[in-house]
Amino acid sequence: MLFQIINDNAIIIYRAKPLTMGNAINPPIDELDPKRMHAVLEGDVTLKGIAKRIAERKIKSIIVLVGAGISVSAGIPDFRTPGTGLYDNLQKYDLPNPQAVFSIDFFKKNPKPFYLLSKEIYPDKQKYLATKTHWFIRLLQEKGLLLRCYTQNIDCLELQTNIPKDKLIACHGSYATTSCIRCGTSVPNKDFLQAVRNDTILYCKKCTSTTTVNSSNDTKAGAIAGGGGGDLTDVPPLVKPDITFFGEALPEIFHKNLQPDCDAADLVIVMGTSLKVHPVASIPDRVSSYTPRLLINMEDVHVAEDKTETDAFRFHLDDNYRDVFYKGECDKGVTKFCELIDYEMKKLNENDEQQGEYKVSQLEGKSPSKDNASSKNKSPSKDKRSSKNKRSSKNKRSSKNKSSSEDESKQKKVKKESTSDTTWIRSLQKLMTEASHPSTANLLDQHPEKEEEKKMTVNGDSEKKENESGSLVDKDLLSEKLSGLQIV
Ligand SMILES: [Zn+2]
Repeated sequence: MLFQIINDNAIIIYRAKPLTMGNAINPPIDELDPKRMHAVLEGDVTLKGIAKRIAERKIKSIIVLVGAGISVSAGIPDFRTPGTGLYDNLQKYDLPNPQAVFSIDFFKKNPKPFYLLSKEIYPDKQKYLATKTHWFIRLLQEKGLLLRCYTQNIDCLELQTNIPKDKLIACHGSYATTSCIRCGTSVPNKDFLQAVRNDTILYCKKCTSTTTVNSSNDTKAGAIAGGGGGDLTDVPPLVKPDITFFGEALPEIFHKNLQPDCDAADLVIVMGTSLKVHPVASIPDRVSSYTPRLLINMEDVHVAEDKTETDAFRFHLDDNYRDVFYKGECDKGVTKFCELIDYEMKKLNENDEQQGEYKVSQLEGKSPSKDNASSKNKSPSKDKRSSKNKRSSKNKRSSKNKSSSEDESKQKKVKKESTSDTTWIRSLQKLMTEASHPSTANLLDQHPEKEEEKKMTVNGDSEKKENESGSLVDKDLLSEKLSGLQIV
């Protein structure tokens, strides 16, 4: 995956609680209460089992943890696919290793590869759109079930769904904000984007106006921006998006919310991640032993080696009582999940109707009949349907005295229509349809393509171009290197 390299590095840097034997977060399985264990999914340890708990509103507070896998269908290059993955193409950058492009130490010496890479992966709504999986997360919020979304992605696609900011934690930062790596001063995103599109490197105006630059690998820029004087600091005043690079700390908001969220969650949904980064990957381990966990992924990850391992997923173990694995693409997984929730809600609704009919028939001294509309809707999911159900009930009552099959068919049709627009599948489709409307604002800056084209024409120089700070970048070299990053 694209940003697996960050993750792999972060294992070393941020692994606060190594998941080795004897250092587990969760107690041994044989110390758990068997009744409570069974109650987690009532023995139905399947996607349907979790869907049923949601339909019954027994699950109300969900943590979602996502990685690069949920953005693959948006067209963002997969990091590991041979030939097309960025991992292969990064080899062309003359980097000591692919990870170096996200290393803060390497960036300080040579920011060019990251700037080049940013030209390709900068979150641009005209290029990359939020996937069905991203909208599923928003749907959880709409249903009042989202406790928090922890994303390891820096592509900002979650922001396109207008998910409330307090519900989203970008564990490794993102392109959403930009700042100087020396003084921390915020820099407008558009300035960084302009530099990226102009194939130049952006330096902090505040720093460069008062001091010199030490950029050992970009002496021209340093000389122009800083006047070529002596070194005042080891940190060059480079501008960088607030992405967590190797060697940088995770955002404070992550640490602040991590454990309280895990304590409050009654379901964890993990999607599109190899779960190799810590502490992010420890989220499924940090929830209660009685909290169900769902993995939607192309492959099973973070799996317990044997029964004694209490933290990792135990899909394959015969004592599994809470872990569910959906193997496949995330978009397909969330679709299936929504369908199952709808199915379970429909079943509940029908059961409620029958119970209601029974009560009515008892009062009226009649036997239960399908002609009787439900007098009460006790479905836990009645919230948004109540008014429409009333309308449906009226329709049913009005035809109470008619017993033809035609009328029954009509009643059923009315009933079906009255609830179908509140199903999870329909709601998800509705969210996605509304998103395609131009009213959905792009949270990031528009790229100034026209200005760029104009400059290119005016300059008429395909080999070298000068930017605001005066750094020079070889255009042909850029083209050559970027050609390897074209998305297939
Ligand atoms: Zn600065």
